[in-house]
Amino acid sequence: MSIKQRIKLGVYTAAKLTGMFKLSRFLMRRRLMILCYHGFQYSDEANFRPIMFMDKQRFAQRLDLISRGKYPVLPLSEGVLRLKKGTLPANTVVITIDDGFYSTLDLAAPLLQEYGFPATLYVTSYYATKGTPVFPLLIQYLFWKTECTNLDLSDHPWFPAKTVDLCNHHATRQAIQQIMDYGMAHCDEPGRQKICAEVAATLNLDFETIKTGRGLSLLTPGELDQLEAFGIDLQLHTHRHSFPANDPEQAHREIQDNRNVLEKIPGHRLEHFCYPSGIWTPGLFRY
Ligand SMILES: [Zn+2]
Repeated sequence: MSIKQRIKLGVYTAAKLTGMFKLSRFLMRRRLMILCYHGFQYSDEANFRPIMFMDKQRFAQRLDLISRGKYPVLPLSEGVLRLKKGTLPANTVVITIDDGFYSTLDLAAPLLQEYGFPATLYVTSYYATKGTPVFPLLIQYLFWKTECTNLDLSDHPWFPAKTVDLCNHHATRQAIQQIMDYGMAHCDEPGRQKICAEVAATLNLDFETIKTGRGLSLLTPGELDQLEAFGIDLQLHTHRHSFPANDPEQAHREIQDNRNVLEKIPGHRLEHFCYPSGIWTPGLFRY
């Protein structure tokens, strides 16, 4: 255990011993607690992006804590409605998951079903329809995972820097950005995956294993359809995980494209929307 983890544990233990958790639960009892998760870990995704991915065991511990603490877990719509009506049970919890990573169906859904907890999945649909790993995330993952100290892309005309010293943090970040920008501006999805395969080969990584592992892929519409059986509701989260503040027309299109994909999956009333990355400002186009 690291020093940081020890300090954290010490603070939590002190808070428990002094009754701070009970006091906090009492003070928060009238509020609706909305828990937000993203993806779940197959191999090393939580080390790569600890804020985005969670180990399955840790998720199970969280659910167990909610269960043992007898926190009522309600579907999102019911929680919001009862909050408005003033009939919310004390310490109600709503569970939400963002984006729609494949691991939501494979790892999280069976656990939620085991505990009988409903949840809402905010689906971003572009990569759901493509069935490929999320391009910007995959590029960043490849650079994080490699043990190479040098990137040589001199054979690839689309990469202007040719070689990059991967021990140089700034140069590495710049290279990642250049590749992502090029892929987004000039390629279709097969073209982007081709770039990923080439970068992976240069970085001495097994692209096929990473790709078929699906840790960085989203659920396809057919797989999203299976979530209803687990008590997971689908809601809007934009098509390309983008909601431009200065372009209401494009922002509106993002929701409409998202809706067009999700409406084909029966069993879900699309009435909730989660801003991408939860970023919202008062001046933003209101959904
Ligand atoms: Zn998101």
